[in-house]
Amino acid sequence: MFTPSKLAPYASADAISRGRRHVEAIDPSRGQFQRDRDRIIHSGAFRRLEYKTQVFVNHEGDLFRTRLTHSLEVAQIGRSIARVLGLNEDLVEAICLAHDLGHTPFGHAGQDALNACMKDWGGFEHNLQSLRVVDKLEQRYAEFDGLNLCFETREGILKHCSLDNARQLGDVGVRFTQKLQPSLEAQIANLADEIAYNNHDIDDGLRSGLITLAQLEDVELFANHLAQVREQYPALNERRTIHETVRRMINTLVLDLTAYTQAAIAAAQIAHPDEVRATLPLAGFSAEITRQNQALKQFLRRNLYRHYRVVRMSTKAARVVTDLFSAFLQMPALLPDEYRLKVDSVAPRVIADYIAGMTDRYAMREHRRLFAIDDILL
Ligand code: MG
Repeated sequence: MFTPSKLAPYASADAISRGRRHVEAIDPSRGQFQRDRDRIIHSGAFRRLEYKTQVFVNHEGDLFRTRLTHSLEVAQIGRSIARVLGLNEDLVEAICLAHDLGHTPFGHAGQDALNACMKDWGGFEHNLQSLRVVDKLEQRYAEFDGLNLCFETREGILKHCSLDNARQLGDVGVRFTQKLQPSLEAQIANLADEIAYNNHDIDDGLRSGLITLAQLEDVELFANHLAQVREQYPALNERRTIHETVRRMINTLVLDLTAYTQAAIAAAQIAHPDEVRATLPLAGFSAEITRQNQALKQFLRRNLYRHYRVVRMSTKAARVVTDLFSAFLQMPALLPDEYRLKVDSVAPRVIADYIAGMTDRYAMREHRRLFAIDDILL
């Protein structure tokens, strides 16, 4: 029998959940958000994250993060913070695992290209697409489309969205039009995402050779921890020095976030999740760590995300997405049967759903099938 663990008064407890869109019987053995987490893990979109790029296309090397391993790291960080703060760990974990479900193949390059393709039809936003995946596109249950997740999980998945879209979304869109905050669980999941990607992009960036340790000596947050590690373990090899530095950085960020957030909750005397929503964001980093973290992000933007090898990959990725979209729009008969109602007509949004659901390698294969002349028989 499920018995909820003791939560802080400002946590999103199962008993006060705003519930699911389609009413379902309570599962006696699992909490509501535990059930959401389980549904996310069993979804097809979750499995596809294994073959979607974070920064590096996954066939570049087996050790680079993919969206799947990234999502697991986010969940680990989020869950640790939630436990210390007395928040609902299952809810944080569910949001973390689902936060990237709507991502296109090829990371941000793919998303920007698809957004440009869809500019006359409402654009494409990956956060909104993550919600669309769990609300509609997953088709696994007899009685409803989507995964029928709880309001709080859906609210957390929809990190950002344009005001135009928010107005059409009903309950989860309200906070954008009324300028309210999401639950603390959602705020923590969002910052856990940031901690995870900044740190693993440094690790993957160094592994790929696109950035170097010497460059990072100018980045305070990294350099301070690197100096400590070198002083304590002068004979340690480079790879282990990097790991030890990165894990210390993650630790510093997690501890700072936890302490700052705890103090903010206490100062605002927050005693209910509704008060969390009605006030300014409570989760965050101290001013000093915010400054250091910004510098780290700026370093990554300049030196990794805009590295010419990443730009070359992104440019090709954008071409793949754009070519696929144009081909399907011009000739809907090229689409697999399940994606069109009639042979000669298709809604642009359906094409966007099809492309967004592709893994990197599926998109490349599909591009080859449609455009490679020497493979005309495919
Ligand atoms: Mg992410």
